[in-house]
Order: sequence, then C-alpha cells, then structure tokens
Amino acid sequence: MTPARTLLVLGGTTEGRAAAAALAERPAVRVVSSLAGAVRAPSLPDGAVRVGGFGGADGLAAYLCAERVSAVLDATHPFASGMTANAAAACATTGVPLVVLRRPGWTAGPGDRWHRVGSVAGAAAALPALLPRDGRVLLTTGRGGLARFAGVDAAFWIRSVDPPEPPLPARHTLLLDRGPFGLDAERALLDDVCPHVLVTKDSGGAATAPKLTAARERGVPVVVVDRPPLPAGVPVVSTVDDAVTRLLG
Ligand code: NAP
Repeated sequence: MTPARTLLVLGGTTEGRAAAAALAERPAVRVVSSLAGAVRAPSLPDGAVRVGGFGGADGLAAYLCAERVSAVLDATHPFASGMTANAAAACATTGVPLVVLRRPGWTAGPGDRWHRVGSVAGAAAALPALLPRDGRVLLTTGRGGLARFAGVDAAFWIRSVDPPEPPLPARHTLLLDRGPFGLDAERALLDDVCPHVLVTKDSGGAATAPKLTAARERGVPVVVVDRPPLPAGVPVVSTVDDAVTRLLG
C-alpha cells in the first residue's frame, strides 16, 4: 500500500475548508489544516486540524520537515500577508512545493462609487473627505487595524466575528457577526445604519459581496482596501479544483 502523503493546508477561509474536504477525498492523502487560532470558535475543516502560529518562517520550515509534509496549500485570506510570506520562505528553504489559492478580488461595476486605497491606514485617511459633519461609517475590515480609525471624527458601526481590541473610534457600535451575509440582510443593515461610507477590504468571494450590491443600490460610496502583493514567483490558482489538480495531478 502507498504511504499517505501529508498535505498542509494553511486555512482560516471558506476556500481552505473546501480544499481540505476535496483533498481528503483523494486516496493515500493525509490532510492537516492549520488555523491561526485568532477566532474564538472557528468553523473547523474536515480532517486533522492544528491551531496556532508556527513561530515564523523558520518554525514553519521545521514543522514541514518534522511532519514530512509533501506539499503546502496556502489558502489563507488575501490579507494574511505575514503567513503567506512565511509559507513562501519556508517552502523555498525546504524545497517543499507550495501552491497559493486566492479567490479573485472584486471589481467595480456600473453604479458603484468605489475609492480604492492601498492600506487600512489609507482608508482611514480617505474618510474625512467623504464624510459630512456627523458622518456615519460602516466598517467591515475585520478586527485588525481598527486603531487607524480611532482619530477619525465619525460614528462607526464595526462588524467583526469577535470583539476587537482597543483603541477604537470613540463613537462606535459593535456588530458581532460572521458571514456569509445575504443580500436581504445587508440591505436591512444599510437601511438601519444609513452609512455615508462603507469600508471594506478587497476580500473577494461571494460570502461578503452582497454588502457591495446593497451599497450600490443605495448610492453609498465604498472605500476598498487593495490586497497586499503576493511574494514573487509563487504559483497561484483561484479555484479549489485547480488547487487540487496542481497538488495531486
Ligand atoms: P497574518 O497577519 O498573515 O499572520 C500573522 C501570524 O499568525 C503568522 O505569522 C502566523 O504566526 C500566524 N498565522 C496566520 N495564519 C495562520 C494559519 N493559517 N495557521 C497557523 N498560523 C497562522 O494573518 P492574519 O491576517 O492575522 O490572519 C490570521 C488567520 O485568519 C489566517 O489564517 C487567515 O486566513 C484568517 N483570516 C484573515 C482575515 C484578514 O482579513 N486578515 C480575514 C479572514 C480570515 P507564526 O509566524 O507564528 O507562524
């Protein structure tokens, strides 16, 4: 019998869970999904799961050797740039093949009023010019980087899975919720909050896209934070099927 090959899926995303399930169906494959442990009650993938950081690129390289990992699938969120850089470095050091699975980003369509910025800090800097006095902002960039908005004079509605750490904007309301978010729910949220601006990362994917449709319908401007660049030279696919094919043929 052929010994099982161990594939490491760096996850924390819908795609990571889907890829783990698809890979686990293949014969002679052992899938281990890795989660950062940043979310209190994560949605767990099929198969084995390990939780917590590796200790940088060196720690990951040591893990790959110790666990005899045959290949790595980086299915982390497009904004998890630290983990992605570590995976590229560790795989280069150890010679373990790496495939990056990235869902496509969003693109503006007719009627969208998007303002693209290069970072979360750039989003905070863009807000004053877009807001009236007593402005209202719906902030959906997640828990990280919210300190950037602390100095913006506006009322914020902050949506995140778990409560964010301070510092936070002085005037804020927390919306603790986990996607996917349907269009009717997003319409109701925008009608309730009546934001002057919606702020989002360019996360891509269907699970959180309905807010963009609801914003377009209501003429609400959207500040969209561009994705950080990928490390040079890493092979990138955009679907789970392509990831499985690249990893297992
Ligand atoms: P990050 O800034 O790139 O990573 C920071 C550190 O967290 C990494 O250096 C690594 O620690 C650890 N880490 C990250 N992802 C890991 C994983 N899958 N398994 C084990 N350790 C991991 O990442 P982040 O933006 O904080 O995201 C953390 C996790 O949340 C990721 O798995 C990502 O897919 C998910 N997520 C992120 C976002 C977002 O907007 N950033 C949104 C949804 C989901 P060590 O250096 O010690 O190995």
